[in-house]
Amino acid sequence: MARFLGISGKINRVCFSTSSIIQTITKPSVLLVNHGYPPLFNAGSEVYTQTLAVRLNRSRKTSAVSIIAREQNPFRDDFIIRQTQDEHDSTIPIFLINHAREAPYQRFVNTDIDHCFKNLCQNLYPKPNIVHFGHLNHLSLTLPQSAKDILNAKVIYTLHDYWLMCPRGQFLINGVASTFINQKPYELCTGQEDKKCASKCFTSRFATGTTINKDREMDYWTWWINERMHTVRQACDTIDMFIAPSLHLQKRFIDEFGLPPEKVKYLPYGFDRSILSNRRRIRSLNDPLVFGYIGRHAPSKGINLLLEAAQQIVQTHPDLINRFSIVIYGRPDSTTTNYLQTMAKIAGILIEWRSEYKNSEIVERVFNQVDYIVVPSIWDENSPLVIHEAQQCRVPVITADHGGMSELVKDGVNGLIFTHRNVSSLAQVILQAIQQPDLLDKLSQHGYLYSNDKQVPSIESHVDQLIDLYSTLTKNHVEEQVNHLQPKPIESLSAPRRITFDTNPDDCNFSCIMCEQHSEHSPHQKARKEAKIRRRRMDFDIIKQVVAETASLGLQEIIPSTMGEPLMYRDAKGRTFEDIIKLCRDYNIKLNLTTNGSFFSPQGHSVTEWAHLLMPVLSDIKFSWNGSTKTTQELVMKNSKLDKQLKNLTEFIRIRDEYTDKGDNRVSITLQLTFMEINLPEIPEIVKLGISLGVDRIKGHHLWAHFKQIKDQNLRRSPESIHRWNQCVIECQNIARQYLLPTGKQIKLENFFELNEQSGPFTIHPQSVCPFLGKEAWINHSGRFDPCCAPDQERLSLGSFGNVQNSNETLMKIWTSDAYKNLINNYTKYSLCQNCNMRKPPELK
Ligand code: SF4
Ligand code: SF4
Repeated sequence: MARFLGISGKINRVCFSTSSIIQTITKPSVLLVNHGYPPLFNAGSEVYTQTLAVRLNRSRKTSAVSIIAREQNPFRDDFIIRQTQDEHDSTIPIFLINHAREAPYQRFVNTDIDHCFKNLCQNLYPKPNIVHFGHLNHLSLTLPQSAKDILNAKVIYTLHDYWLMCPRGQFLINGVASTFINQKPYELCTGQEDKKCASKCFTSRFATGTTINKDREMDYWTWWINERMHTVRQACDTIDMFIAPSLHLQKRFIDEFGLPPEKVKYLPYGFDRSILSNRRRIRSLNDPLVFGYIGRHAPSKGINLLLEAAQQIVQTHPDLINRFSIVIYGRPDSTTTNYLQTMAKIAGILIEWRSEYKNSEIVERVFNQVDYIVVPSIWDENSPLVIHEAQQCRVPVITADHGGMSELVKDGVNGLIFTHRNVSSLAQVILQAIQQPDLLDKLSQHGYLYSNDKQVPSIESHVDQLIDLYSTLTKNHVEEQVNHLQPKPIESLSAPRRITFDTNPDDCNFSCIMCEQHSEHSPHQKARKEAKIRRRRMDFDIIKQVVAETASLGLQEIIPSTMGEPLMYRDAKGRTFEDIIKLCRDYNIKLNLTTNGSFFSPQGHSVTEWAHLLMPVLSDIKFSWNGSTKTTQELVMKNSKLDKQLKNLTEFIRIRDEYTDKGDNRVSITLQLTFMEINLPEIPEIVKLGISLGVDRIKGHHLWAHFKQIKDQNLRRSPESIHRWNQCVIECQNIARQYLLPTGKQIKLENFFELNEQSGPFTIHPQSVCPFLGKEAWINHSGRFDPCCAPDQERLSLGSFGNVQNSNETLMKIWTSDAYKNLINNYTKYSLCQNCNMRKPPELK
C-alpha cells in the first residue's frame, strides 16, 4: 500500500527490528539512489538498482536497504514523496519523489529534490552509512554532498554511462544534423569542451533560433555547460568511490576525466545465473540462421545499421534471402519503429518484430529462438548487459570493435567483430556467419572471456564484493562508533528490590545437561559425594535476617534457589520451603519461584497442594521447559517425564485461573528454557504450547556452556548458528503476534532478540546494560554476597564483597560498599561482563 507524504511531513521510521541497533554498527545500512526504479522505469541502471537492492537485502549482510528514486506523475504535485515497497521484496522501502515537469533541459542542481532527499535521509532508520548512487540525471548533483552532510555516509557512484563526463551522457553529438551546417546525425564525440557542447549539442536545440541572439545564446550555453561541469567535479570530489563496470569506462574516467585511479574500482556487473540456464535451441543445419536484436528502437543502439546491413546482403547475395532472418525484441517507439519497419519492408528483408519480455523469460522467449545476438550500438557502450546474458547462454555475439563491447567479445572466439558504425563491415560479418554455418558451433563453445568456467559473474559474488567495499569504506567509521558507545551508567537502587537465595543447590531430582551442578557432565556432585560432604543447605535464619533487614528498604520479592529444585529445601533444623512461604507472608513480600515442574518435595505435597500454598505469595512461577517433544524434553531434562510435566503445568494454570477469577492478584506463569542447538527447532512449538495453555511468558537464556561436551550446543558460537537463532527469533515473534493468549493478550517473549551474525568482537551490543547490578542481590548457601547469577567459579572473578553471616557485615553494608560500587561503575572492564549474555541491548531494558 503506497503512502503519500508531503515534503515537510515526518516519515514513519522503517526497519525497527530489535537487532537493528547492533546491526547498524557492524553491517552497512545502504541507501540506493537512482533516477528511476522498476516497474516505473526499466532501463539498465533501474534494473540494476533493483537487482542490487533485493540481493543486498537477501544477503543478510546489510542492516537495512532502502531506495530513493523519482517518478513522473503529471497528475500530482511536483516533489511529493510517495512511499511504497519493492515489488519482489516488500521489506525494502522505496521513496519516490515526483518530478513530472522538467524544463526542456533539466536542472543539474535541483534544490527541491535536494530538500526532499535531505528530509528523507533525516528520517531513515537505521541511518544509512552507505549511499550508493546509480544515476543523478533528473535528480540533483548536490545529493552526494547532502548524503555527507546529513548522514555522514560514505558515497559510492556506479558509472553506468558517461553522464558525468558528457552533458548528453553518451558522447554522441545530439544537435541538429543538416547538410547546411555540414553536421551528420549522431556523430561520435571525441571529448568534452564547453564551447563544443554548447554549439554541437545545445544551441541548435535549446535556443530561440533567431540570428540576432545567436552569440548571446552561445555564450549562455557555454556558461551553462561550464557551470554544469564545475558542479559535476564538485560532486565527484564528494564521492568516495566510483564503480566502473568495464575496463574501458574505468580508463576513460581516469585518463580523460582525471578521476584519481584509486577512486575508480573496476567491478563487472553480476547476473542472476539461475534465469540464464537451460537454453534449448533446436535447429537443423539448413534452417535459416536467426540474428536477434534486443533493445530500444533508438538511433544510439544502431538498430538501423542492422537493417541496412541485412539490406546490403540481400542486394549483393539475393540467393541468401532465405538463409537468414532477423528478430527484433523490444518495446516499439512511436517516433522510430514505423520508420524502421518501412525501411525493412522496402529492403525486402525478413524481420519479425517481437514485444518486450520479462527478464526471467529471456531464455525461453529470446535465446531459444535465435542463433546470434547482434549488438550494433553506435555510441561508446559501457558494458552491455545483453552481451553478458547471451554469453551465459552460449549465444555468440556480433558486435563492434569499440568501447565496452569489444572488451567482451573476441573475434572468432565467442563472437564476431565488425568495424564500429560501419554498415558494410557488419554486413560482411553477418555474411560470414551465414556462409560458414559451422562457425556457430565453434563460437557457441566459449562464453564469457574472463572466467575459467566461461560463466559471467554471478550477482551473489557481485554483491559480496560490494559489501566488502562498503565494509572497507565504513570500517574506521564503525570502529569509531563502537569505541564511542558505552552503556548508560547504572543508577543503583538504595536497596535490592529482589534477592535470590541459593537455598539448596545440591538438591535436585533431575539432571539437566546444562546444569552446572547436576548435569551428568558436571564433576561437582560426584566430587561432593566422594568427599562425603553434606548437601549444601542454607540456614533459614540467613534468609530471615536478610529479609528482615531489607523488607522495609525496598525489597519486593525473593527468589529461592535457581540451582537445584527449591521445593526440596529442608535446612539442618528441619525448616522447609513452607517456612519461606510464611516468611513472605509475614513481611508482605512476593515469592518468585523457578521450579523444574516436578513438584517433588520432602513433604510429598501434590501439585494442587503446592499451588494453593503458593498462590497467595507468588508473583511469578517459572517452569523449566526445554522441548516440545518427549524426546528433546527428556534428553535435556534427564529423569523428567513430559506427560507428567504437562499435567502439573495444566493443573497449576487451572488453579491460578481460579484465584484470578476470584479477584486475587494474577500470578504470572512462565516457561523457562535454555536456548541450545538441541531444542532450537522446537522453540517455536514451545511458544505455541505456551500460548495454547495460557502461559504468560516464555523466557530463555543462551547457554553458559560449562562443559566441553555441550560446547556445540551454544547458538552463539558461529555466524551460521547465530543465523539459525535469528531465524528462530523471527518465527517466534511472528507466532506471538499471530496467536493470542486466551486473555486476548500477546504472550511475552523474553530475551528473544536477534544477535549480530558478523559479530566478531561485538557479540554483545556495546551499549548493553547489566540488568542486575545495583538492582538485585544473590546470597549463596553460606551467606556470601554475589553480584549476579553467573556460574559460581566465573562470578568470583568479579571480586569478593562480603558475607552476611560475618558479625560485622550486613547486606546493606555490602550493598553500599566501595567494592560493590566499583563493580557497578566498571563492570564493562571485566572480561566476564564484556561478553555476558545477560546484558540487555538498549531497546530491551
Ligand atoms: S559535445 Fe558535449 S554534450 Fe555533445 S556529445 Fe560531446 S561532450 Fe557530450
Ligand atoms: S557477569 Fe553479566 S550479569 Fe554478572 S555482573 Fe557482569 S554483566 Fe552483570
